[in-house]
Amino acid sequence: MEKIKMTTPLVEMDGDEMTRILWAMIKDKLILPFVDLKTEYYDLGLLHRNETRDQVTVDAALAAKKYGVAVKCATITPNRQRMEEYPQLTEMWKSPNGTIRSILDGTVFRAPICIDAIKPVVKNWKKPITIARHAYGDVYKSVDFVTTQPGVCTMTFRGNGGEEKSAVVQTVDGPAVWQGAHNTDQSIRSFARACFQYAVDTRQDLWFSTKDTIAKIYDGEFKRIFEEEYERYRAQFERLGITYFYTLIDDAVARVIRSEGGYIWACKNYDGDVMSDMVSTAFGSLAMMTSVLVSPEGVTEYEAAHGTVTRHYYRHLKGERTSTNPMATIFAWSGALRKRGELDGLPELADFALRLERACLDTLNAGVMTQDLVGLVEPGFQARAVDSAAFLDEAARRLAGA
Ligand code: NAP
Ligand code: MG
Repeated sequence: MEKIKMTTPLVEMDGDEMTRILWAMIKDKLILPFVDLKTEYYDLGLLHRNETRDQVTVDAALAAKKYGVAVKCATITPNRQRMEEYPQLTEMWKSPNGTIRSILDGTVFRAPICIDAIKPVVKNWKKPITIARHAYGDVYKSVDFVTTQPGVCTMTFRGNGGEEKSAVVQTVDGPAVWQGAHNTDQSIRSFARACFQYAVDTRQDLWFSTKDTIAKIYDGEFKRIFEEEYERYRAQFERLGITYFYTLIDDAVARVIRSEGGYIWACKNYDGDVMSDMVSTAFGSLAMMTSVLVSPEGVTEYEAAHGTVTRHYYRHLKGERTSTNPMATIFAWSGALRKRGELDGLPELADFALRLERACLDTLNAGVMTQDLVGLVEPGFQARAVDSAAFLDEAARRLAGA
């Protein structure tokens, strides 16, 4: 069988622990036998980040900018415990995802992989709900303090060009707590563009929610900038038959619960933090959650939403065969290959990505799955737990036969 050709390389960002083991297995069993794979490889494994003083992460992000499409394996973000585990680390390196996100100025979109055998907790959800979380500012970059006396708190802005604004926050007659939060026009605009771009790419409606009835000026700015940016995309939305829909966050929550799914829900930073956990839990499993970082220029970086699955890795090191779910990492590869195929006009490559996903979904629907999913299947559905290698072999067999 002739392998599928590629023209532009995919930026491949390897990672750590169990997901690094899965990464190699997925390539060997599901991709290399079928695709004449072209990648520009960056090793984002913790020790190599340390050796390069984290330059490799920056280089990988710049390569993503250059080529437009990247696929990333989960990576360790070091903390104090990791510094003890890896004594050779010379610094507590920053989160690679944070570094890449700030270089690409991107927004993260998270969507569940849905299968027939596992029904969402919300029974009317039929299609995935994608959450886009704004990842800058608001309460996450706020200053706060406590005061003990009666008094007045004011907020003042001094522009470098002489603009000056001041407002009384509140006068209090006893101890109080205060918080000052901000966002920037540019960050909100990038977020809006990434959302509209992703809606066009995936042909899904876009919902956006804030609380602009209460935060009239603050959230009002978000609403205004989204409306302004929408004008750049309106024609494309109309041509594709998709819609942009703004509503209040509480109305959005009620509508989401009653909906069938199948749209993107853009949320402010805090709302996205909370709602993405709610939505992903209701859909089933973190191991079935995909994640894609999209820049306002349309650069995409695909990955799994979960981490490096440390506990499984230590069992693997002891020689055990682990039943770690590779689905989200496989879908990171298929997402990236499909995108590459679309950008380069290679329908065979895009079609391969679809067949790869279908082979994996068929494997699950045939009841062959990793341990984490077995407990989630509907009553009456016959499922058997296999280890990761056996799951990949079964998916590969279906893919070769398809
Ligand atoms: P995690 O790796 O997502 O794993 C947490 C637990 O969830 C696992 O112990 C496992 O439960 C279950 N799980 C997650 N993915 C699974 C899969 N594919 N198959 C089966 N079970 C799965 O989170 P963590 O343990 O908090 O973090 C480990 C490391 O990952 C940390 O160093 C962190 O910095 C890093 N991390 C990286 C990213 C990223 O690169 N995007 C994201 C998050 C965390 P059981 O053990 O009960 O089976
Ligand atoms: Mg959270």
